[in-house]
Amino acid sequence: MDMNTIEAVVRTADPAEWRAGDAWLAGGTVLFSYGSTAFGPEPLRRLLDLGSAGWPAITVTDAGIELAATCTVAELYALPDTLAGSPGAARDWPGLDLIRPCCDSFVASFKVWNMSTVGGNLCTSLPAGPMISLCAGLDGTATVLSPDGSGRELPVADFITGDGQNALAPGELLRSVSLPASALASRVAFRRLSLSNLGRSGVLLIGTLDGGGRLTLTVTAATKRPVQLRFGPLPDAAELAAALDGAIPDSLYHDDIHGLPAWRRDMTYRLATEIRDELDTRAGAVPGRVSGDFWPPQSPRRESTPQEGA
Ligand SMILES: Cc1cc2nc3c(=O)[nH]c(=O)nc-3n(C[C@H](O)[C@H](O)[C@H](O)COP(=O)(O)OP(=O)(O)OC[C@H]3O[C@@H](n4cnc5c(N)ncnc54)[C@H](O)[C@@H]3O)c2cc1C
Repeated sequence: MDMNTIEAVVRTADPAEWRAGDAWLAGGTVLFSYGSTAFGPEPLRRLLDLGSAGWPAITVTDAGIELAATCTVAELYALPDTLAGSPGAARDWPGLDLIRPCCDSFVASFKVWNMSTVGGNLCTSLPAGPMISLCAGLDGTATVLSPDGSGRELPVADFITGDGQNALAPGELLRSVSLPASALASRVAFRRLSLSNLGRSGVLLIGTLDGGGRLTLTVTAATKRPVQLRFGPLPDAAELAAALDGAIPDSLYHDDIHGLPAWRRDMTYRLATEIRDELDTRAGAVPGRVSGDFWPPQSPRRESTPQEGA
């Protein structure tokens, strides 16, 4: 897509330099697909290129994992292998098991896979944003920098406010997402459905069960924005259904070519029950089954991704 309204590309990660008509440029897979007239009533005039920000893509400490907004999907995909050979508790975090299914949910080409960023995915704020699913599902906190020099933090689940909508004010920059060790150390379960094998996610649910037996269920893709439900003891089927009823009004289910709201709603209840069953470790509990009809998607990207080694 030509961006023939662009007058300058400025290499900066300083929000103080932002002015009306600017857009932050990360991987560019959305900006260069949609063009410079698709981002508001006025065409874009400048791109503020984050490519030289120099932020470490991924920082792992005992407290958790910090993902720079500029971390690419390919870099994130490599993390479990990198940590597997490292000392420390991080390599045993069960939450790492969510990284690859979420990256694989990004049914994208080799080029998009290697260029698009965690931050770009969050800021595009599509219901089917797989980095949104991952970061919300692991209780991520977004750090946002403002043009006036201040900064603020908010849960990723609150950062996304609707289909294509988020909490960023004009000029604000998403700097990073922090995934806490408490969520990474939880047991996790993942379910995803798409209407077709290579299709965009229609429903994507993540469950985490912490050491105290508390279940957190994060619903994405089915809904216009992430919805999180937190339980004390594991809910029974009726309690789970009632909680979903209360948290997700019909109008919050997303409606586009990738799935009707009624289907997304039905599948949300089904997958939530499967996740609850899978994470139920109490004596006599029946393990849940993986919804294998649609999982895993076989992305064409996989054949040509270097980090897979084949
Ligand atoms: C073939 C194809 C398949 C795709 N499949 C999917 C999919 O399955 N799911 C999905 O969600 N998306 C999908 N996309 C859309 C897009 O590629 C992703 O959302 C991607 O993660 C965007 O990241 P980016 O770094 O390329 O963003 P960019 O194009 O650089 O930026 C996107 C938007 O975010 C803003 N932005 C970027 N970084 C920041 C920041 N740090 N702070 C503030 N604002 C920022 C930009 O100004 C722009 O408005 C697809 C795109 C293509 C072309």
